[in-house]
Amino acid sequence: MLTFALVFGCLFGGHALVLAAFAALRRGSAPRRRRSSLLASTRYAVEFVGTEALMLTGALELGVIRLSRFSLAGTLATLLAGFLAWEIWFYAGHRLLHTRLLYPLHRPHHAEEGLHASLCFSAGETMLLSSGYYVPLAIASHVSQAVSVPTLVLVFSIAHVLNVVSHLDFDLFGARFEASPLRHLLNSTRYHALHHAGRRGNYGLNTPWLDRLFGTEVAPRVAQGDDLAEGTPSAP
Ligand SMILES: [Zn+2]
Ligand SMILES: [Zn+2]
Repeated sequence: MLTFALVFGCLFGGHALVLAAFAALRRGSAPRRRRSSLLASTRYAVEFVGTEALMLTGALELGVIRLSRFSLAGTLATLLAGFLAWEIWFYAGHRLLHTRLLYPLHRPHHAEEGLHASLCFSAGETMLLSSGYYVPLAIASHVSQAVSVPTLVLVFSIAHVLNVVSHLDFDLFGARFEASPLRHLLNSTRYHALHHAGRRGNYGLNTPWLDRLFGTEVAPRVAQGDDLAEGTPSAP
């Protein structure tokens, strides 16, 4: 119970800090939200963070992840391998969530109007997508003793930051990013905004590689000086 409380507090506090930092960068004022949608999305935020905390607590208590002393090289290798593995897991899981059978789990995230979209996931969706963290973490912790508390803090902090960046309602990178070589390496906020605007595609969160490989990429079209031209994320 103590481990769960600690993990829940760290995840909730960490996410709140990340959101506060991006809110400070935001331009303009947040649109007014209906009270009912705010209540619904608050429920899904608690469901999301609570489920993540339960999964991480379970993984630690059951020995799925075994903590070792901090190693910089081990942590960097775990972050890199974990990022690549999670990109594949997320793309496959996200496509599954858009099937008729599993879409009810994903609907709250797309219907969100109240809180930030990066916080609104049902418990079922969180279990499906977040379980992708545990395969690389379990392997790294048992095979190379590369997982420590700082490793976990970095993994979940970076994941939260990237998730928030994909759901911003302002363009953090600017239109020039779309014309630069970097767009072949990383997705911009516009990319996931198109997915939230109802376009079929852009299932990958952080990189465009798998959408290109499987022909599901919807590339943002931008004019110079343009803001979020096509599709906007649904949250402040
Ligand atoms: Zn989706
Ligand atoms: Zn989304």
